[in-house]
Formats: sequence, C-alpha cells, structure tokens
Amino acid sequence: MSTRHSAFSEPPKKSLGQHFLHDRGIIDNIVRAVNPQPGDRLVEIGPGQGAITFPLLDKHGELTVIEFDRDLIFPLTQAAHAHGTLEVIHRDVLQVDFSTLAANAGPRARLRLVGNLPYNLSTPILFHALDHAAAISDMVFMLQKEVVDRMGADPGSKVYGRLSVMLQAYCSVTPLFDVPPGAFRPPPKVDSAVVRLVPHAPEAIGIDDPEKFAQVVRDAFGQRRKTLRNALSKVCDSAAIEAAGVRPDARAEQLPVADFVRLANSLRD
Ligand code: SAM
Repeated sequence: MSTRHSAFSEPPKKSLGQHFLHDRGIIDNIVRAVNPQPGDRLVEIGPGQGAITFPLLDKHGELTVIEFDRDLIFPLTQAAHAHGTLEVIHRDVLQVDFSTLAANAGPRARLRLVGNLPYNLSTPILFHALDHAAAISDMVFMLQKEVVDRMGADPGSKVYGRLSVMLQAYCSVTPLFDVPPGAFRPPPKVDSAVVRLVPHAPEAIGIDDPEKFAQVVRDAFGQRRKTLRNALSKVCDSAAIEAAGVRPDARAEQLPVADFVRLANSLRD
C-alpha cells in the first residue's frame, strides 16, 4: 500500500539518499520494533515523506524529526497536523547536538533515535550518535544490510572491522530483520536491514580515552593484513602490546573488543 501523501510533489533526490519506504508491512515492523512508551523522547532522522513519521505520531502523539531537504519541511508539517505534534528540525543531522536535544527535554532525558538513514551518510551518522551515546537510550535504524552485517560481526569473521569494534565497544548491536529493495521507491541497489543499538551504561564501557581508543582501532584495521606489532608500530612496541595481555603477532581481525579496550587503556601518551 502506498504511503505517499499528495502534498509531497518533489521527485526523490539521489544526492540525499532518498529511497522512500512504501511497504506497509515493513513500516509496521519498524514501528513495532520502536514500540514507543509514554514519556519517550522520540527523534527520527530523515523523515522524508513521513512513511515512518506518521505511523509513529499516530501511536505516540509527538515526535521530533531532523530533515535536511528544505522541499520536505512544509509538506511534512502540513501533513502532520492530522496525526499529532511534530517538531521539525531543518538541519543536517551531523550538525545536531543530541546531548543538548536530550538536555532540553529534561535533566535525565535520553533520546530514542529512529531512522531509515540516507545510506551515503550512514557511517558518519553512526559515529555522530556514538559521540552522544550517553544522551541516547536506543536506536532503531535501517541501513544497508552489508553495514548491519559489519556492525554485528564477531572476531575472525571476514567482515569484522573498525565499524564492528567501534559500535560494539559502545553499544549492543541486534540485527532485527532484512528488507528487500522493492520496499522502497525508488528501490536502492542493495539489500537493507533494520538494527537495534542500545548504548552500554557509561561505567560498563571502560574506555579511558575515547580518542586514543578510536586511534588504536583505526591504526589496527588500517593495515588489517599486518600483525598488531607492525600495524601499531607508530603508537607502541611489542612489549606494550604484550603488557596489555595481547599477542603482538595477532591481527586486528582476530582481536575481541575487550582486548582493544585494554590495549588502548594501557598505552601512555
Ligand atoms: N524516512 C523516510 C522513509 O523511510 O521513507 C525517508 C528515508 S530516506 C532513505 C533518507 C532521508 O534522510 C531523506 O528524507 C533525506 O532527505 C534525509 N537526509 C539526507 N541527508 C540528511 C542529513 N544530512 N540530515 C538530515 N536528513 C538527511
């Protein structure tokens, strides 16, 4: 069934990653996965023509959306009146400070993020959300299936990499269901999947210096064929790697997340 609203007259913009969901069953599954509860502070990234927005509004009564495409702002606002209270933030989501958004909602408020993300920006959006993980209680995102596979991969898997370690260090990653290209208009070239991310409690993360941790993970996977001894030679020597309880001849793709945390924490400036 189509969810297209007559007020939306502009054709989809490729440059903004616009693939609009029209499959009612998938939309219902996303809303069910979000399962809004009274008092939740829901924020949708990239509402587009409102495929997820309006069903969420019907359930929850209020919602904040962040949309970059100026042509969508007026029709979204107009169409929302029939569904609930919609706050529209017309900005690039990468410029939105989620911590301030949460603080504005109350002293201990945390956001629940939802979004069928623009695929060209999915990794930067994920890293941006990680920067504000303490302000977020969970995220339900649609992404390329290949990215979801990488996010949830285990050490030793072919797709275990920087994204897996960075995401799993800060969040639990639960792939929920796959979505075929035909669920979107226009259809993307790749399969998609919906994933739930729940940030760990700050005290459970255990990373002393987030920048140093990110650097170690980046260096280790920058040369994933090399042993850690070689890949990390600019930041530490074999003795330092061994002192962290990690084998210098291991490769990044074999190393569990906890080992990366220990290794980064053990390095001196
Ligand atoms: N949620 C709608 C749906 O499911 O049909 C649209 C999803 S579409 C894949 C991605 C949406 O993100 C588009 O509406 C696009 O305009 C918006 N978008 C793209 N880049 C953005 C950015 N930097 N900040 C905020 N929104 C952006």
